[in-house]
Amino acid sequence: MHKHHSALGLATTLRPVQPVTLIRPHAASRAARFFVEKFPGRSMYAVKANPSPELLQILWDSGITHYDVASIAEVRLVARTLPEATLCFMHPVKAEEAIRQAYFEHGVRTFSLDSMEELDKIVGATNGAADLTLCVRIRVSSDLSKLSLASKFGVMPGETKELLIAARQVADALGICFHVGSQAMSPDAYAQAMERVRAAIVEAGVTVDVVDVGGGFPSTYPGMEPPPLELYFETIHRAFESLPVSYSSELWCEPGRALCAEYSSLIVRVEKRRGDELYINDGAYGALFDAAHIGWRFPVLLLREPDSNARDMPFSFYGPTCDDLDHMTGPFMLPADVQAGDYIEIGMLGAYGSAMRTAFNGFGSDETVVMEDEPMASLYMPAERAIPSNVVKL
Ligand SMILES: *Cc1c(COP(=O)(O)O)cnc(C)c1O
Repeated sequence: MHKHHSALGLATTLRPVQPVTLIRPHAASRAARFFVEKFPGRSMYAVKANPSPELLQILWDSGITHYDVASIAEVRLVARTLPEATLCFMHPVKAEEAIRQAYFEHGVRTFSLDSMEELDKIVGATNGAADLTLCVRIRVSSDLSKLSLASKFGVMPGETKELLIAARQVADALGICFHVGSQAMSPDAYAQAMERVRAAIVEAGVTVDVVDVGGGFPSTYPGMEPPPLELYFETIHRAFESLPVSYSSELWCEPGRALCAEYSSLIVRVEKRRGDELYINDGAYGALFDAAHIGWRFPVLLLREPDSNARDMPFSFYGPTCDDLDHMTGPFMLPADVQAGDYIEIGMLGAYGSAMRTAFNGFGSDETVVMEDEPMASLYMPAERAIPSNVVKL
């Protein structure tokens, strides 16, 4: 595939009519190597954040050997793309048929659960298998995260003891897992959750072989600049070391966002301007679901030559569909003279961007190009490595 050196060059020479996804394999590889080298345990990739087979291959080539899958389609996808990978089925509510097929056809041995019903289902679907790693998902707070995952899953403290004891009886290895919510803005989220793990272990008096701190590791967006990931790793390591678990127990994590946010961005075209509202050709039903539905702010950059010297002002966006809901509040800071026909790069869309895309109303595009430049922001590039010209201040 032809590689491009800059988003600006691409927009000004090709003038694409459809939105174009820009992928940066080197950025995903850098994130994966960072986790492999620095996380004090095993990092498995949460596939739902971005299931692209190209990305899965890049992560594998960079040392990620374990994959957190949540559906039988994700099991099949990873098994097909990376036949040597280890799959962990970490959705706490699964179809019995999915468990059976994952176990017998794809060699999946690790499953999560948060109820007695699910434990019975797993035991039944695997014909009482003796080689299971069962991870009990406990409920923890999402208060320090931008996106809550606290309501839907996780066994409540009052029921944890009984479930841990029951799972211990049928598991070859017993784990405890949790998810602090996505985009955790402080390492304290993990410190607090680890205290819940400690309480659960003490109360149930079981031997725990795996502690899985889940996902939630942040990326960087306008107004959401987290502390360095090393601080998260140190906090988790310290908390893990002080848990009442044996020396041979393992520490796992399941990053989604942090491994792929920097992997891709999007070039869109402005089709119309109405005051401070820009009508662009991707939106809520495309790669910008989070911008529309949960008010997520992504960094933006005007791609125009010569560069505008107008001062920045806040804009909101409308996507291309005929639906009022297809609206993104932002604010997105762009030069005051943006007009129809201009191109904009929207950054940090590798996680939960293209994964959510639909073809609703006939919009959306699969066009993808490989870039050699740097992402618009990064948690993995040392600051002294001269900021490339396309990096914007968040
Ligand atoms: C979504 C999810 C993840 C990934 O979360 P991020 O916030 O993207 O890191 C990890 N584990 C489970 C079980 C999830 O549902």
